[in-house]
Amino acid sequence: MPGRRDYTRCWPATVVSIAAERIERLSELASEAAASGETDRAREYVRLARRIAERNRLPLPRELKRFTCDRCAAYLRPGRNARVRVEDGRVVITCGCGAHSRYPYNR
Ligand SMILES: [Zn+2]
Repeated sequence: MPGRRDYTRCWPATVVSIAAERIERLSELASEAAASGETDRAREYVRLARRIAERNRLPLPRELKRFTCDRCAAYLRPGRNARVRVEDGRVVITCGCGAHSRYPYNR
């Protein structure tokens, strides 16, 4: 019996790694855009990265999780468009749009 090659077995892993690379790249682009003051472009990259992560059920890179606003998708830069405070062992990041995010403070 002629053997059929099973492409589907290696396919998902390839798709996942391409998606993960794209997210990584978008995260860098968002950071660069935010650094040069292009906040709207940074937002677009953040939104794209989130969409790809969601569709592929991939975790977001740590910097995209922490330094982006859940409400307006801005790439947050402490001292520029965000304030960072530490209260009761938590880090509170306030976006320029007024949204707060809280994270446990890792010691
Ligand atoms: Zn915001």
